[in-house]
Amino acid sequence: MDQITVGGIDIQVTRKKMKNMYIRVLPPDGRVRISAPRRTPDAVLRSFAAARLECIQKHVHKLRARPRPAACQFVSGEIHQVWGRPCRLEVLPASGRGRISLAGDALILQAPEDSGAEKRAGLLNDWYRAELKQAVPALLEKWQQVVGVRAAEWRPRNMRTRWGSCNPRRKRIWLNLQLAANPPECLEYVIVHELVHLLEIRHNDRFRGFMDKFYPNWRSVRQRLNGRTSGQI
Ligand SMILES: [Zn+2]
Repeated sequence: MDQITVGGIDIQVTRKKMKNMYIRVLPPDGRVRISAPRRTPDAVLRSFAAARLECIQKHVHKLRARPRPAACQFVSGEIHQVWGRPCRLEVLPASGRGRISLAGDALILQAPEDSGAEKRAGLLNDWYRAELKQAVPALLEKWQQVVGVRAAEWRPRNMRTRWGSCNPRRKRIWLNLQLAANPPECLEYVIVHELVHLLEIRHNDRFRGFMDKFYPNWRSVRQRLNGRTSGQI
């Protein structure tokens, strides 16, 4: 990959079949990339970047200053959320697959001592999934009656960027299993949101009108949800 340096900032250059040039500052660490049509000379790239240097620097700075959550290690003492409640992780040695249980505010993870963070994260996700499976049917029943629609199917899924999604044609609803880490009203809000998509696909005035009618508090719950972790619906 080509690279140029402008004003002390290293910029990756991608040349491809395209009409216009553009610059992006990429999360998480503020890498800068310029995309340009195939035969654009370096001098043109340089002046393009130089003209936007102040703006680039501002973005890089903003990204680098952003606190990044430390990756979880899944060791004793770590705090994990269960339905919006902070719970302390206690890791106990176990043989076999491992399991998780909740005792008061202690989240007990029994796992083989040599299991890594990834395996343990998988156990917690399985547990969150089971929590959702327990909580969702009654809520779905309640809100289907209020909204006046029925979902043909719902499933918990581990999604990176969304709290829920809906396939209106097939009347399918996916719910992010990380919702089990958030306060119960967040799950309720996402369920209502996805059910309303069975009436209106887009996030337009009609959609917001339904939300106001069925779940008047939706704006503050949404804010709470999106303030906690990255993700949107
Ligand atoms: Zn939506």
